[in-house]
Order: sequence, then structure tokens, then C-alpha cells
Amino acid sequence: MTDEARTDYRLPKTVVPSAYRLRIEPDLEALTFAGTVEIDVEIGSATSEIVLNAIELDVGQGHVALPDGELRVAELSFDPERERMTMALDRELDAGPAVLVLRFAGILNDRLVGFYRSTFTDADGRERTIATSQLALTEARRVFPCFDEPACKATFSVTMVVPDGLPAYSNSPIDSETLLADGRREVTFKTTMTMSSYLVALVVGPLEATEVVDVDGVPLSVVCTPGKAHLARFALEIGAFSLRFFSDYFDIAYPGEKLDLVGVPDFAYGAMENVGCIIFRETLLLVDEASASRGELERVAAVVAHEVAHQWFGNLVTMEWWEGFWLNEAFATFLMYLCVDAFRPGWRTWDRFSEQRELGLAIDGLHTTRPIEFEVRSPAEATAMADAITYQKGGSVLRMLEQYLGPETYRDAIRTYLRTHAYANTVTADLWAALESGSGQPVGEIMDTWIHQGGHPVVSVSGGAISQKPFMFSPPDGPSAIGSHWLVPVLSRPIGSTVLTRQLLGDAPQPLSIEGPAVVNAGGTGVYRTSYGSSELAVIAGSLGSLTDLELTGLLGDTWALAQAGERSIGDLLTLASGLGTRIEPSAWRVVELALSFLSRVVDDQQRPVLAARACRLLAPAFAHLGWEEADGDDERAQQVRAVLIRSLGTVGQDEAVRAESVRRFEAGALDGDLADAIVSVVASLDRPGDRDEMIRRYRDARDPQTEQRYQVGIVSIADADLAAQTFRELFDLFRTADAPYLLATLVSNRVGGRSAWEQLAATWDETLAKVPPLMQFTLGAGIPGFVGDPAFAERVADFHRTHPVETGQSRIDQAIERMLTGARFAARERPLLDATLT
Ligand SMILES: [Zn+2]
Repeated sequence: MTDEARTDYRLPKTVVPSAYRLRIEPDLEALTFAGTVEIDVEIGSATSEIVLNAIELDVGQGHVALPDGELRVAELSFDPERERMTMALDRELDAGPAVLVLRFAGILNDRLVGFYRSTFTDADGRERTIATSQLALTEARRVFPCFDEPACKATFSVTMVVPDGLPAYSNSPIDSETLLADGRREVTFKTTMTMSSYLVALVVGPLEATEVVDVDGVPLSVVCTPGKAHLARFALEIGAFSLRFFSDYFDIAYPGEKLDLVGVPDFAYGAMENVGCIIFRETLLLVDEASASRGELERVAAVVAHEVAHQWFGNLVTMEWWEGFWLNEAFATFLMYLCVDAFRPGWRTWDRFSEQRELGLAIDGLHTTRPIEFEVRSPAEATAMADAITYQKGGSVLRMLEQYLGPETYRDAIRTYLRTHAYANTVTADLWAALESGSGQPVGEIMDTWIHQGGHPVVSVSGGAISQKPFMFSPPDGPSAIGSHWLVPVLSRPIGSTVLTRQLLGDAPQPLSIEGPAVVNAGGTGVYRTSYGSSELAVIAGSLGSLTDLELTGLLGDTWALAQAGERSIGDLLTLASGLGTRIEPSAWRVVELALSFLSRVVDDQQRPVLAARACRLLAPAFAHLGWEEADGDDERAQQVRAVLIRSLGTVGQDEAVRAESVRRFEAGALDGDLADAIVSVVASLDRPGDRDEMIRRYRDARDPQTEQRYQVGIVSIADADLAAQTFRELFDLFRTADAPYLLATLVSNRVGGRSAWEQLAATWDETLAKVPPLMQFTLGAGIPGFVGDPAFAERVADFHRTHPVETGQSRIDQAIERMLTGARFAARERPLLDATLT
């Protein structure tokens, strides 16, 4: 990129901020806000204009305060395209310190960005309003004029003027509170650490806080809407654990003075790591431990740990510019698994991480994938980074590197990196440099091949040698983002031994460093597919019992991916899956479930009973062993395997007994715990009269966010074309703005009803698009990959989405289109063979 292109979106560096004094007065009735900001800046060289970011703000004239007087702003001009404003001054300013003083006003919007409103109905049936903020990636400029780039770090002294009686929260503890003559309260917060503008938080509304927990001197509490504080205990526990875990892992004390975990009813992302004031979507913070499933608790634990990890990795040390966004997120993803694994070792969190790896690789085998890191010009390009390539593939690549270098070496290098760059900014190469000097390995050279090109390799194992080629679900028929070769950190071990050997596989085939039968991708953390030759595969298949859970899940996942690519047969997968027997490994069973569910979209009506019978033969032995009821001495993960088996047997397997028991339990009333989601799925697949109304009733009566979500998903999963169309029409009345777009994607992915829902979407495109906040627009195409049964329909869907691009996130829709078309080709190719394969 040229320097000129950079200046399109980057602020000139002649004026550098060091401190903000921000006073902001939200009006929760008029749904507006007004304020003043004073910014201490250093003028690097004489200038007669100052450029900063502002958008959708009404900014008053302002002035510049100098040590010897005041300078008026002659003219303010705005550039909405580049989201900037220019202050033209009366005369030239000399180099040196100055203070910019500006008044501004804006609207508390309902688009879930900037300073926005979130509403809920209280216990008395009154609608209440919260004003809350989401300033990432570049939305601080919607709230106050600022130097809104991650490298422009400064301190923030925030004052909020709020209605008396409503609590206010920001990044720091409250310093002082004063009752004003007009009855409002002025709340002044302590000055923050030096930080980026996207991490500022502003929250005010009818909220309540839990009691404060003292975590080695750090006050921790959960803030939520009234009546929900009893759902906060688990978040406090994992919050406290994470604070201690990361202080220890990084060997640096928590950099803030307090930590609030705030749950708001309307939130676009999962959560946002604002310094000292993390804001969450309620489902990912508030949970009833007595009724939640393990998976729901794991998600809350993971998201809390992720956001707490950012307080160091991201907030204390921050990317220089948005191309570093992926590293920030991928690293927090890696760290959250590390933390949750320590929090509840019995959960076997790293085994579950293999499911995340599969999600990343499912996208990364497409020609429309992208390099993990690419040069980012505009903030919109950075927003496009918020996908599975960043979080799932990026996190997996960092885990692979950790396992290759060794966990202690890795941790020590991270400590050095954070200490060296505290309160400052970095580029990705700074991290590689720290890891390289800590390990003596060519980390930069290795990682360049993983970061700067899309795709990942297949490592073939044959005749004692290994070699690589790019993995792709289908041959390219146009431009492809899939790279050509990687420096692959290969871990392997002899079958029957746990001793790992390491080798770096380059372009040329090389002998495997082990003689005799070996497990390649030992430990299962490599971000590549392994393709064994037929004799090697036969040996592995004969010793599945000796594979670790992660290795087994990897083997199944790789075999399924290779089958989709036409390089293995579905029969190979089914043979390996039969070898699972009664093994308690949820992630391995999840691979089988996903494959069966995909096949259920491929088969025609005559083949459906054949598939059902095959599914039952695969799953029934394990289910016969486990049964419905938890038993004393059960493996901690047995419930999760039960859930997978029930869902698959009841839907794809059409197992009458499982269906009948699911219905019985559904009709008996409240469902909770690990099996609840599976039971709701089975019931939804049966399309019984009245179940939709019942699910709507249970969703509306829900007392915790997880129960709410369970029935939301149930409603959009009902296997009926007319009801799916009706649900589409009622979507934004039934569900909140923050939930409806995701549920729309699930509705479109409904095997039976998805097509009619999509037809409705296409017919009402402009109107529907207008209801979806920009950050979530990708969801309008996210549900289509399941349309594989009818190639002509798939082509029509593809044409429609290509000619109706969304503003933010079209790259993710392009990936969904390719997945759908690749799946449709797979279906056409395999369908004639399935009778033989399945019987
Ligand atoms: Zn994050």
C-alpha cells in the first residue's frame, strides 16, 4: 500500500493526544447526549489545522487553549466519508503543548454502536432505557471528537451527568459524586491508564450490581438489569479465577483499578473488553448454574476469560493498526482455553477446542478464504476480520506454535513481550521476535507462511515419508486465496508410545523422523489435515484405542474433510466412526453428528430411511451403553455424549424410542441441563401441532438467558415450511434486534423450512436489511450452506447474494456461497453412490 492510501484513513501524526477530559450528559428520555471534551495534545510541528475523527456528531466551534491564551477555531469542516473533522485555526500554531476544547451532541441510537440505547421491560411492566457504549472498532468517534486510532493512546478522565438514582459505570472507579442544582448527579471517574479510545466504556441506567468480590485487591462485580443478580455467581467465580490466572501467567498485576462485568439486554457482539468495564450480551454472562448445560457454562467461562485476557493482551499492549486485530483476538481465544482448562480440568477444554479448529478449517479450505493477516486500509476492512479465520483458525495456529515451541518457552516469551511493550503498541512481528529469541526457532519464517496466505496443507504420510500439498474442498475454477506451501511444525509419535518428535516440513518430501507405524499430528494440535496411505490408515484404524481424544477427533475430522474433497470415501469415515464404539469423547461424536447431519441434506426421500438405519447402527451401541439417565461414576463428559447421541438418533436416525422419550420429557415441562437442547431439537424436528406456540410461551416466560435462547433456537428449528415462513415474517417482533439476525441464519439453515424462509428473505431484502445492524449483516447469508440438495436452487441463491451484497461482512457471505456450491457438487457426486455406502 502506498503512503497516500494510508493517509486516506489515518490521521496526520503532527498532533498527538496524551489526555482526555470528557464530560458527557446522556438524556435517557429524549434519547440524546451532549458533552464537552478537552484533549491535551502535543503539536509536533507548526500547523494551522488539526484533524481528528468525528461522525454523526453535532460539534460546536471550539477553541485551542495555549499556555499563553486562547486560539479560536476559524472553521470546522467535516468529511463523513473518512469520518473526520478538520479544525482550521485563526493562525498557525507553534510546536508545543495545547488543549483542544470542543462541545458536541449526538443521538442515543438503536444500532448497537457508539453510545446507544438498550431497553427492557421491568418487573412492573414498564419499559426502561439503558444508555451503553460499544466503541470498537472505530466507534468512539460517534460519541466524542477524538484521535480514534489504536496507536493514539491517552488517559481518560470521564465525568457523566446522569439522572439521580441511576448508577453509572465507566473504565475506572468513581472518584466523586455531586448532586447538581437541577437534580441530576455528576459522577466523576478516576483517570484511566494510558489506553486506546476504542476501549472507553460509558453505561448508565436502571441497573444493579452484585456485592464486590475482592480479588487480591481488585474489586470485581457483575452489573445487570434488576432481578438478575442471582444469575451472576458463576461469572464472578470465573472472573476472579481469570484475574488471578492471567496475573500469574503474564507475571504482571492486573493493570486496572477495578473490574465490572456488565450484562446488557442489547449487544451486537458476544462481549467487549473495555478497560475495567467489560460489556456482555446477557447469555454469555448471566447463567443459572442449576439449570444450565455444561456447554452453556463453558461458553460463559470462555467468554469471561477471553475478555479478562484482553485486559493485558490488547488493552495493556495494543495493536498499532487494525491489521493487528486478528492477533489480538486469536491470542485472547488461545488464552481463554488455557484459562478455562485450568479452571475446570475435568471439562477437557482443549478437546473441545478441536471443534473450534474444525470451524476455522471448514472456511479455510475454500478458495474464498483469506490470509489471517492482510493490510488494512479502512476500518470497514478491519471489521471484516471478525470471522472464523481470525478467532478459530488464528487461535489454532497460536496453539500449534505453543505446542511446537513448548508451553513454558512460549509463556516466558509472552511475558517479555508484554513487559517490553506495556502501555504502548506493537505489530505482529514484535511477537514473533519475542518468541524467536526465547525459543531459538525460526518463528517469524514459520508464521509468515501461516499468516500471510490463506489455506492450510494436507500432510500425506506414506512409506515412511511425509509431504505436503494445499488442502481444498474443490479444485479452483477462478482466483483462489489458498496458498501453496507452508513451514509445517509436525509432531509425531510411534503408535504405543507417548514420546513426541518434532520436525519442520518444508516444500520437499522428507523422511518421517520415526520408523515404523506412527501417529502424525500427535497431540492433535496441528492446523493441517493428515492423509495416511492405505496401509498406514489400516494400522491406525486398528489401534484407535491408543489415540488420545484429540488425535481421534482430528483423525475423524480430517477423514470427513478429505471425503468432502473427494480424496477419501464416506465409507472410510463410517468405518472409523464404527470404531468409536462406546467411547466417551464428545468432540469425536460431534464430527460424526455433523457428517450425518450433512448427509441428511444430501440424500433423497428414498435414501432417507437407509441413512436413518445407518445412523442408528452407528450410534445405538453407545446410547444403549449410556442410556438416558446419569449414572454414578459417569465420566464428566458422558452427558455431552448423551446429548449428541439423542439429537442425532432422534433427528437423522428417526429413532422412535428416542423421539417418544424426547416428547415425553418436553411435555413434562421445564427442561434443563445438558440434554435440554437436544430434546428441543428432536421435538422441533417432529413438527407437531402446537409446539411452536408452546416454545414461544416458554421463551417469553424464561427466567434466565440460556432458557430464552434454547426456545428461540427451538422456534426457528421447527421442521415445517409454512411455520418457517411465518417465523420469518414475525422475526423482528418475536426477538430482540441483537438476537433476530442470528436466529434468521438458523432459520434459513433449517433443513425443512429453510427454503421458504430464504424465499421470504429474498422477497423482502431491502426491508429486512434495514432492520439488521451493520455488524450483523453477514447473518443474512450465513444460513445458506445447507442448500445442497438442489443444484439449481443453490445457483439461484448464489446469484441472489452476489447481486445483493451487504455493506459489512460480504466476504463471509461469499464464503457461505462457496460452501453451498461445493456442498451441492458433493451431493450430486455422492448421491448415486450412497445406497451402496450406507447399506
Ligand atoms: Zn476478543
